Amino acid sequence: DLILFWHRRDLRISDNTGLAAAKRRSPKVVGVFCLDPHILERDDVAPVRVTYMIGCLQKLQERYAKAGSELLILHADPVQAIPALAEALTAKAVFWNWDVEPYSQERDRTIINALKEKGIEFLNQNWDQILNSPDEIRTGGNQPYTVYTPFWKNWITKPKAQPLETLQNVEGLTEAEQKIAKLAGAIALPSAKDLGFIWDEQLIIPPGEAAAQERLEEFTAKAITEYQEQRNFPAVDGTSQLSAALKFGVIGIRTVWQATIEALENSRSEETAVNIRTWQQELAWREFYQHAMYNFPELADGAFRETFKNFPWETNEEHFQAWCEGRTGYPIVDAAMRQLNESGWMHNRCRMIVASFLTKDLLINPQLGEKYFMQKLIDGDLSANNGGWQWSASSGMDPKPVRIFNPASQTQKFDPEGEYIRQWVSELRSVDTEYLVTGKIPPLERHAVGYPDPIVDHKIQQNQFKLRYQQQKNIS
Ligand code: FAD
Repeated sequence: DLILFWHRRDLRISDNTGLAAAKRRSPKVVGVFCLDPHILERDDVAPVRVTYMIGCLQKLQERYAKAGSELLILHADPVQAIPALAEALTAKAVFWNWDVEPYSQERDRTIINALKEKGIEFLNQNWDQILNSPDEIRTGGNQPYTVYTPFWKNWITKPKAQPLETLQNVEGLTEAEQKIAKLAGAIALPSAKDLGFIWDEQLIIPPGEAAAQERLEEFTAKAITEYQEQRNFPAVDGTSQLSAALKFGVIGIRTVWQATIEALENSRSEETAVNIRTWQQELAWREFYQHAMYNFPELADGAFRETFKNFPWETNEEHFQAWCEGRTGYPIVDAAMRQLNESGWMHNRCRMIVASFLTKDLLINPQLGEKYFMQKLIDGDLSANNGGWQWSASSGMDPKPVRIFNPASQTQKFDPEGEYIRQWVSELRSVDTEYLVTGKIPPLERHAVGYPDPIVDHKIQQNQFKLRYQQQKNIS
């Protein structure tokens, strides 16, 4: 029996729940990936993300070939293309892993109906990209969590599955079946450029399973033991940079978790263990936001808290453009935005700083920032990005009423030598550290090096934000 395995955000053959289930069912397993025009034609797709994804698909094809089978590529609406391919190949079943995003869930339901009509079996209820399912992690009153800390306390006590076996020794299509697959729409893998996405810069992580595995091993061998402190400094390589691999499922989450367990077992001091636990907590944030998106899909459409539903945000195109391009006159903000634009990635500390700046200093709607991030990030992911923006805007589930970051004090704490600023804002390279970290660069010096004046005054804007917040609170 032929089983089709539909890859979506699980671009790997190792530690893959649905794929392992397919292999248990039949020795003949063929992969398929569908380039979905509904996704690729949206206006928030980052060229860097597509470039990474296509690179991963290429590696995945190589992995399939080694295992004895193939990965087919479609470029069409999956709602028609997946059932049509399954029917043409007289596949016994289509397997895939479940996803939390509202679009995916609706699409999958339509496909399930189409498969049912054709009498093709399907298995889609595999949770693969998270360690525990949303149904498992509920409050005492059987409600989904809306606050991270109690979520973490519950989540960490729940058993986590071991990594699953890598696909091997499978049968692929016969020559006749390959011809049929072509007639049903299977094409050669296009390049990102063929799809209209140009990214010529280096990627923060090379595509494919082997590179992600290597990165994990490197990180858990060393940097994880100092993570708690080092992760805060954007000039330091103190984090794993595995986010794009996790977003596309290029590495299995059970494999990642197992690596943290082994690191804990090997840790020789309580201090090391605390660092490893801190990294585990970041993985839990990722799950928290995915569970939140699954349980509260309305998060994708805007503010979660009532107070922010009709918030009087500013419409200021000039300010927004200055923020996007890294020309706000606030060195740490500009460095971060330029890192995003030039590398397709931004350090977490800086994501929080620039998101606070857009919403609390420029008083601009966080949804604009959220979209801009999606247009630029290699790891752009609806749940994590939305969670991060709602947290920074104070519009989400986070219980703290208002959180405002002061760009200068953030710089003094986390980029005390101005190293990160100098790396990304070239015109500030020769400016005194004291000026960089306080943001108080004398106007003459700013003009001499061609760096803009601050577009707003942090103190004034902060008060303005608080005032509007209070007014909204009284109304809601
Ligand atoms: P590490 O510090 O090594 O953490 C390990 C992994 O844990 C990450 O790869 C990521 O998968 C997960 N993780 C860590 N922190 C968070 C977090 N706060 N929320 C959710 N998952 C987390 N992360 C994305 O993956 N995609 C996004 O689109 C995204 N947008 C964000 C937007 C804003 C405004 C903010 C404040 C944060 C956002 N994050 C996003 C979370 C975080 O910034 C990145 O996951 C992290 O910087 C990636 O670097 P890393 O892989 O080195 O992380």
